Amino acid sequence: MDREFFLGFIKVHILYHAAKGPVFGAEIVEELSRHGYNLGPGTLYPTLHRLENAGYLTRSSQAVGGKVRKYYAITEEGLKALGEAKKRIAQLVEEVLEEVDH
Ligand SMILES: [Zn+2]
Repeated sequence: MDREFFLGFIKVHILYHAAKGPVFGAEIVEELSRHGYNLGPGTLYPTLHRLENAGYLTRSSQAVGGKVRKYYAITEEGLKALGEAKKRIAQLVEEVLEEVDH
């Protein structure tokens, strides 16, 4: 898949899942692989950092079974960005998949 499309899609996926509750790296990789996106750490972590730098996610560390796990939670800004992305996805589906002329 075109890399820029891929990155855009996974960002929306990550925000969508973070909106349901804090997520961590391995969980995101597993969820995305279910949808056929194969995501390595070299793509995942820079993407999470970009979402964090944009103010859409906040990171916190939590000890889980003797290991420190980094959780990412959505912010108000992230929810706004997700809402905006949803509107655009709906438009895109209508036009591209349903071929309604605009
Ligand atoms: Zn998903």
